[in-house]
Amino acid sequence: MTFQDKVAIVTGSTRGIGKGIAAAFAKQGATVIVTGRSEESAQKTVSEIQQNGGTADYFVGDVTNGEIAQEITAKVLDKYNRIDILINNAGITKDNLLLRMSEDDFDDVIRINLKGVFNFTKVVAKVMLKAKQGSIINISSVIGITGNVGQANYAASKAGVIGFTKSVAKELASRGITVNAIAPGYIQTDMTAEMTDKAQSEILDKIPMNRLGAVDDIAKACLFLASEEANYITGQTLVIDGGMTI
Ligand code: NDP
Repeated sequence: MTFQDKVAIVTGSTRGIGKGIAAAFAKQGATVIVTGRSEESAQKTVSEIQQNGGTADYFVGDVTNGEIAQEITAKVLDKYNRIDILINNAGITKDNLLLRMSEDDFDDVIRINLKGVFNFTKVVAKVMLKAKQGSIINISSVIGITGNVGQANYAASKAGVIGFTKSVAKELASRGITVNAIAPGYIQTDMTAEMTDKAQSEILDKIPMNRLGAVDDIAKACLFLASEEANYITGQTLVIDGGMTI
């Protein structure tokens, strides 16, 4: 699987799953565009990729701002002349039980996890439509399928990503662009490191494979969905959770 001469934007790739996805595409020859709000972390991620022989660049900005998505996309196009792959990965949690959940915490999660996907997809799809090719992968979550106590905002945002993926897949299919979602289970990152040991052990009990997922488990699926081998797959949600939701 090679992505030589391809350009991939990965939102929220300054750490965690996004960083792993960016590194995996760079390893397979893609020019990777790292994004996130922290310039320091973006720079660090790019340096690490370059030290491993990959090609990467970064553009910092908040996914909730449509104008910023437009600016970043324009800069990438100006410098690299193409965008072949978009991975919408930036996401946050602000958990609380419904009756304790503030309106701000609901809005923040929807704005970053769902509207952020809309912002980048809208501007990058325009570039892909002109090129009559491209692959968009949206990182949802199993919580968007099953729901979860204390995560009404997060579940709504991630279920929204699945519906968004299916609609946009239908709109773009005839132009050679695939749009798919990945629904990870519990993956070892900063987000899951915040869980207590008790919560982690309760989760492990529910995973038939008896381990949390690794960032690489998600990155490998992104490589496949963005590859030529997957060019007849669109509008799908690939669950990667060690069997947790079987
Ligand atoms: P992390 O918290 O480790 O990383 C989140 C990334 O998103 C960072 O690079 C962060 O960069 C970026 N980000 C957050 N807010 C914004 C914003 N407003 N604008 C731009 N970038 C932003 O999260 P994970 O790696 O764990 O999660 C990545 C994705 O995978 C998320 O969508 C998450 O919901 C999903 N997921 C994760 C699971 C897990 O178990 N970890 C399970 C299922 C789904 P910066 O701080 O620099 O802005």
